[in-house]
Amino acid sequence: MKRLLSLCLVALLSCVAVAGDHAGNGGDNPTWDSGAAWFVGDGPIHYCYQIDPSFGVSEGDVQSAISAAFQTWAAYLQKKQVSYVLGNDTYHFSTDARSLGQCATLSSPGAADLIFNLGTSSAEINKAKALYQNPTSFAYRTSYDPAKGWGGGFIWVASRGGVVGPDILPGFPDWTKPNLLESTLLHELGHVYGCPHRDGTIMDANISLVLEQATTASEPWSWITHVDWSRELTFVPSTASVTLPGILVGPSTAETFRRFSGRAPQGEIGATVNWNESGASSVALSDQIGTATIPFMAGAPIQTSEDLALFKIYVETKATGNVIPIGVTSRSALAEVRFGQVKDPQGNSYMLEFDRNMGAHPMEIRYFANGNLLPLFFADNLQMTHRAAP
Ligand SMILES: [Zn+2]
Repeated sequence: MKRLLSLCLVALLSCVAVAGDHAGNGGDNPTWDSGAAWFVGDGPIHYCYQIDPSFGVSEGDVQSAISAAFQTWAAYLQKKQVSYVLGNDTYHFSTDARSLGQCATLSSPGAADLIFNLGTSSAEINKAKALYQNPTSFAYRTSYDPAKGWGGGFIWVASRGGVVGPDILPGFPDWTKPNLLESTLLHELGHVYGCPHRDGTIMDANISLVLEQATTASEPWSWITHVDWSRELTFVPSTASVTLPGILVGPSTAETFRRFSGRAPQGEIGATVNWNESGASSVALSDQIGTATIPFMAGAPIQTSEDLALFKIYVETKATGNVIPIGVTSRSALAEVRFGQVKDPQGNSYMLEFDRNMGAHPMEIRYFANGNLLPLFFADNLQMTHRAAP
């Protein structure tokens, strides 16, 4: 038990390790509002864009990518019910994005809350850019009013082929490749919505590396335009029941199948989990011959991780007029570890470890046998859905 526990705790710690937050105000000393969302409330987010000819993408394609990125966040924030109740006030984020077109056409430069600087440069951009190492893109907030929960700033994106370095793909970034610009904007808007880096999601600290790989992939990687990748950025663990397809992995696959089905596997092995937060759950292992259903029980989470201020907001409370620093996380745990029990057909009992949203899979179930931690089920479906338990 002790060894298992320490394994998990190590995994949990590495799971929440955060790379540098490039959404803050750029200072070395983070303030309470560092990394907090720019647009709290219902107000329209007016945005404009400036496209340098070196960017290599038409205005129409830019506009489509910006719209798509905003729409993806709007749907995600609604699906995951991201909002905060503090006292008598409920806070959420504006998703009412309105294009003002090209910034150059605006009568007042202050008319835009958010400026997309695409391949452009200026003294202000260069000053902000100096805070990052060879960036492909960054979000930079230039103003914030905590009484209104409203700020302003810009998202900068490198021109085509504008990121140069010894380990960087020549010609990178190439925004004419499918999904790359949308994914980049989705990431930067995540910072605008108050999210730090979280690997395995759109907020991956190594998003540039992912984009480089997507550039040379033989098929378009459409999944990079989603918020959740191998992990969910945020999930709602309580009252959830979910059915997920998955896999058995590793050299112990046949051993696991044999142990829990009572016979050797024939042909390809399939796996599905029926996870029920409030009651009995099961893994179904199937092959050419049939399906074995393996009930298991998982206890309460022994540890959850809420270390990241996802969708962080910073507001001034209305009740007292004082500036109360509020760094609120999303309402769910980011990851959790549970222990439980699973039995084979002979009635032998095995300790089980149930990880949610921690590693390379959204759900991982392992069991402890003969001194080894063996895989029982790894979910491999990124499109997780939740519904209330009956
Ligand atoms: Zn980032």
